[in-house]
Amino acid sequence: MIEEKFDAIVVGAGMAGNAAAYTMASRGLKVLQLERGEYAGSKNVQGAIMYASMLEKIIPDFREDAPLERHVIEQRFWMMDDRGHSAMQYRSDDFNEDKPNRYTIVRAQFDKWFNRKVREAGATVLTETTVTGLLIDSTGKCVGVKTDRAGGVVQADVVVLAEGVNGLLGTRAGLREPPKAGQVALAVKEMHFLPAETIESRFNIKGDEGVVIEAVGTITKGMTGMGFLYTNKESISLGVGCLISDYAETRESPYDLLETFKTHPSIAPLLEGSECKEYAAHLIPEGGFKAIPQLYGDGWVVVGDAAQLNNAIHREGSNLAMTSGRLAGEAIHRLKAGRQAPTKENLKLYKELLDESFVMKDLKKYKDMPALLHTNSANFFMSYPQLVSQAAQNFLRVDGTPKIEREKATSRAFIEKRSRLGMVSDAVKLALAWR
Ligand SMILES: Cc1cc2nc3c(=O)[nH]c(=O)nc-3n(C[C@H](O)[C@H](O)[C@H](O)COP(=O)(O)OP(=O)(O)OC[C@H]3O[C@@H](n4cnc5c(N)ncnc54)[C@H](O)[C@@H]3O)c2cc1C
Repeated sequence: MIEEKFDAIVVGAGMAGNAAAYTMASRGLKVLQLERGEYAGSKNVQGAIMYASMLEKIIPDFREDAPLERHVIEQRFWMMDDRGHSAMQYRSDDFNEDKPNRYTIVRAQFDKWFNRKVREAGATVLTETTVTGLLIDSTGKCVGVKTDRAGGVVQADVVVLAEGVNGLLGTRAGLREPPKAGQVALAVKEMHFLPAETIESRFNIKGDEGVVIEAVGTITKGMTGMGFLYTNKESISLGVGCLISDYAETRESPYDLLETFKTHPSIAPLLEGSECKEYAAHLIPEGGFKAIPQLYGDGWVVVGDAAQLNNAIHREGSNLAMTSGRLAGEAIHRLKAGRQAPTKENLKLYKELLDESFVMKDLKKYKDMPALLHTNSANFFMSYPQLVSQAAQNFLRVDGTPKIEREKATSRAFIEKRSRLGMVSDAVKLALAWR
């Protein structure tokens, strides 16, 4: 047993853990942060877009030295079929502002930087240390953690669980159910390296400008999921993610999906000549509001992916992780400053702060979307992308067929595939879930 007692122990040095540890340490709390990886970021995989406003609330001048790749000026949403894609895209010079709103990052570098800030703020950080269990006293209160280091039991007033989506510690301690297969996506991702000038000419960008592509359609073979491609300075991150329950049902392999995505006629030219140097797989919590577990208890709080705080509709996770980590840190600091014990009753403050924030408001807004997409995945992720592609071809091909015949062919295809009632019902369900 390590004799020293801490105000707080933070398990994990990802986005949520770093935000929580920094918030508490910079306010003078005695913080121990434990990370199983060789260094912060070594276990982390992310596409990755980082949202500046949420980091600004923690480290306002982060732009001075954070390892940022490109600021995003253009977002492309693709609906793909096997041969092409229909697109909606938005590009604006407004995104070339003094303090850009979104950046691509490489997590291995970014987390390392963020964790350095945590150390500089005064926290003790131990890497290559796995927390193996929570220390629970006879009253059921969490009073510290057990680690895989010799004699590695450490005590603290409160433990912040920022252990990521698997959440094994919380599950083992009976604080929450293990995530269900229908609420978690498995994403496989690669990093493809190209010279900066090649990326800039291929994506029509200059300097530090960046482009993001997010794609749904036949690439996920009717499963709930999507593909993504983000431009970094000298690399492209791309990947595909689908719900685990869908993989189990279809027996599709994530690697095959990624291969299909990479060799798709719309994607392959963007990667041509690149060298793939990194491959990784990671889970993403996608159950939304209804999957959020109990967020606090006697001596503990849970933040970030471990708390299922992920907005799959907007593909936001790191900003919810940073915000929940920060709010947990602020709540714990307020209790400490007011000499209030971190009991379940008092730690409710964290949940109250979270409820007031965009995190819970956004997740609540989309509370019915995960189930809707899951139960209608064949329509939303297969039939409609194919139909839209067919409609685009009918509209654009010029071969002497009268336009009226082409329009009738488009309507017929939609009705045969989904029926009028089916389409109205899909539209109504979508509108209701989007409210
Ligand atoms: C492929 C992919 C692409 C994504 N793209 C985006 C994106 O573009 N934008 C976005 O906002 N979000 C994105 N996300 C989601 C985002 O990555 C997560 O929401 C975010 O990383 C959650 O942060 P976290 O700190 O909760 O968890 P994590 O970042 O997973 O960190 C958890 C940390 O805890 C450590 N840990 C776990 N167990 C223990 C233990 N027992 N002891 C010690 N340490 C432990 C892990 O090693 C890890 O470092 C993406 C996710 C994936 C998988």
